[in-house]
Amino acid sequence: MDFIFCPICHKQISITAHSCPHCGHPIDEKDKTELKQTAKNVEKIVKRKESMFKFGCFMVILTIVLVGGAFATGNLREVNFIAVAVIFFIGLSLMGAN
Ligand SMILES: [Zn+2]
Repeated sequence: MDFIFCPICHKQISITAHSCPHCGHPIDEKDKTELKQTAKNVEKIVKRKESMFKFGCFMVILTIVLVGGAFATGNLREVNFIAVAVIFFIGLSLMGAN
């Protein structure tokens, strides 16, 4: 079901509502179009954050496996490469957070 956010109390309300059930703010058709757009943007941001989080988890696991493997084989040159990759990833995730 489609939903929008009340411009006054920012709570989720049904697209079919004529007023906010939480604070009573009246919602007209023009407002609905704008608010629906806002709700879609919020959804997009949430989805992007979720995918960044999944990517982050994947990178952490990969790093642990690679660092563990490098230490096990005594290949420290590989560890340097991983350190650069980790710094690059932290930079990426900080950009994604903003
Ligand atoms: Zn409200």
